[in-house]
Amino acid sequence: MTFQIAIDGPAGSGKSTMAKILSRKLNAIYLDTGAMYRTVGLKAVQSGIDTKDEKALADMMKNIDITIAFENEEQVIYLDGVNVNGNIRTAEISVAASNVAVFPVVRHKMVEMQRKIASCNNVVMDGRDIGTFVLQQANFKFFLTADAEERAKRRCLEMKEKKMDADYKSILEDIKYRDNNDSSRAFAPLKKADDAILIDTTFLNIDQVINKMMEYIDGKQSN
Ligand code: C5P
Repeated sequence: MTFQIAIDGPAGSGKSTMAKILSRKLNAIYLDTGAMYRTVGLKAVQSGIDTKDEKALADMMKNIDITIAFENEEQVIYLDGVNVNGNIRTAEISVAASNVAVFPVVRHKMVEMQRKIASCNNVVMDGRDIGTFVLQQANFKFFLTADAEERAKRRCLEMKEKKMDADYKSILEDIKYRDNNDSSRAFAPLKKADDAILIDTTFLNIDQVINKMMEYIDGKQSN
C-alpha cells in the first residue's frame, strides 16, 4: 500500500522545504506541483501567448509535452523534451504560472499527471489544491501559512542563495498578487481542506515545523 501526504499553502509558507525533508524521512518521492504550472506558464511566455487568454491556452495545451522525472532524488521537468528546471523560477514565470493555473483546461491535464504519479508511489505532494482536490483521500494533509512579509523575506533569501536577483518589494508584491489570484479563482482555489492540519510557520524554524508534522503523522499512524 502506498501513502500520500498533501501539503498546501501560499507561496513562501515553507511547503517545499518541509516536503523535501518529509519525503527523505519517509522514503517517498516529492512532487512539486507548482513546477508543473510554472512549466505551462513558461511555454505560454515562450510562445508569445497571453497568459490570460483561455482560448489560446486551450490550443496550446493540445500540443504541450511535459514529462516529470526523478533524477538523483530531484524532480526534473522536461518541456517538449528540454530540461526547464533552470528557467521556471523567475518572477515573470511565477506570475505566468498563477495566471494559467486559473483555467480548468490547464488544471485537468496537470491533475491527471499528479494522480498518476501518486497512484504508484509513496508521495509527498505540495501545491494549492492537493488536499481539497487532487488527493482528497490523502493519508495526511497539512496547510502551511505565514505572514506575507515573512514569506517575502524567505523568498528573497532563497533567491539570493541561488545567486538570483532579489528585490524584497517586488517579491512582496508578487506574493500578494498570487495569494489573491490563487485564492479567488473559481476552480480548485488555494484553500485549506477541512481535514488538514493548519500550521502557521511565521515564528517557527524548520525543525519546529517538521516536529509538528511528524507528531501528527506518528500519532495518526498509532491510532
Ligand atoms: O508553488 P509555486 O509557487 O511554485 O506555484 C506557482 C503557481 O502555480 C502558484 O502561484 C499557483 O498559481 C499555481 N499552482 C496551482 N496549484 C498547485 C500548485 C501551483 O494553482 N497545485
